[in-house]
Amino acid sequence: MDLRFSGEDEAFRDEVRTFLEDSLAGDFAVTRGRGGPGDDDCLFEERLAWERHLGAHGWTCVAWPKEHGGRGLSLHQQVIYFEEYARARAPGRIGHIGETLLGPTLIAFGTDEQRARFLPGIVAGTELWCQGYSEPGAGSDLANIQTRASLEGGEWVIDGQKVWTSQAHWADWCFVLARTNRDAPKHKGISYLLVPMHQAGIEIRPIHQLTGDSEFNEVFLTGARTDAANVVGEVDGGWRVAMGTLAFERGASTLGQNLMFQNEWDAIVDIARANGGVDHPVIRQRLADTWLRLRLMRLNAMRIMSSTHEAPPAAMVTKLFWATLHRDLGELAMDVVGPEATLRTGSLADGSPDHSRLQRLFLFSRSDTIYAGTNQIQRNLIGERALGLPKEPS
Ligand SMILES: Cc1cc2nc3c(=O)[nH]c(=O)nc-3n(C[C@H](O)[C@H](O)[C@H](O)COP(=O)(O)OP(=O)(O)OC[C@H]3O[C@@H](n4cnc5c(N)ncnc54)[C@H](O)[C@@H]3O)c2cc1C
Repeated sequence: MDLRFSGEDEAFRDEVRTFLEDSLAGDFAVTRGRGGPGDDDCLFEERLAWERHLGAHGWTCVAWPKEHGGRGLSLHQQVIYFEEYARARAPGRIGHIGETLLGPTLIAFGTDEQRARFLPGIVAGTELWCQGYSEPGAGSDLANIQTRASLEGGEWVIDGQKVWTSQAHWADWCFVLARTNRDAPKHKGISYLLVPMHQAGIEIRPIHQLTGDSEFNEVFLTGARTDAANVVGEVDGGWRVAMGTLAFERGASTLGQNLMFQNEWDAIVDIARANGGVDHPVIRQRLADTWLRLRLMRLNAMRIMSSTHEAPPAAMVTKLFWATLHRDLGELAMDVVGPEATLRTGSLADGSPDHSRLQRLFLFSRSDTIYAGTNQIQRNLIGERALGLPKEPS
């Protein structure tokens, strides 16, 4: 296991750092530290401009192969990029669903025409995407989706309801799982459709979250339409494609989060130092525990990167580990802040009260153990696929 970055990697780190520092000095300074989980509903126009700035300078889709508009970075360099991005407190990416989920899916499963049509808009930040998987009766049991689609006059016509659709209110397109063959078994008969959001057949209703924001939505499809060619993979064969997308969701894109969490840990320690929390033995113990887990998270990421195994079993603990750590970090933050944690101590641009950054961390991190596979589902996957335990009875 080689845990070191090469000289070439370190030179690359300097290049990323310089670009980010220069770019975030001027008009984009306002976006520093904004956006991302728990704060994603802010500064849309500014962050869209940032997305396009990154795209124009070749700093979106850095993991994609060059022939598809990316930078073709090695895994080490991707992590460096994510680390520097977090270190600079650059804004939460507004195009991350297209970049980390749909783009890699099209590269792996799409046609040349689909790649030519959709990838450039993701790279340039001119087309935003959302993910239409979950439904009221289909979350962990995703194959239970009831949204249906049929071909009429060269178009798919889609009816159904999606829920928890992050960024649907911004998105230009949605990748939708729909049942296209109701006679087939549950996992068969599903197709993966690319659906334009700006049309009469789509209604978006915001869902208000604990944080007070509405980052996700209900999406109602009532006779929504998309061209017959906008199916990824085979008609009725969308389950394989859908699972491919989830593998990207649980993959390399989480590796650079470590530094973001470290920034949060640093902010918690600053408060504990100021209010005497560091003198409390239990708080000290929890600070040390979360620090150790942050180190372990990073070392595990490095171990996965340096593995020659295509799907190293160690990667299977990544989501469970960071989600639980982050939730614990949120709880620790509130305990360190103390009674004041029950008051809104942040403020909005107009001066009205808002949650502080750490309150947002606490509230939003409750959802970390739910999206992208709940903790319980992750444990099932680790048990069955990594440890070879007997399968859960269906
Ligand atoms: C912040 C956030 C953003 C999201 N964004 C999107 C999005 O953009 N697009 C999208 O499609 N979806 C999105 N989701 C939905 C997310 O994918 C689902 O919430 C998740 O898959 C869980 O499904 P569910 O909510 O229906 O819970 P359920 O599947 O109903 O689970 C309820 C509880 O039962 C447990 N459980 C279920 N099955 C088992 C089992 N077999 N063994 C043990 N325990 C089990 C679960 O762990 C959980 O604790 C988002 C969710 C959140 C919280």
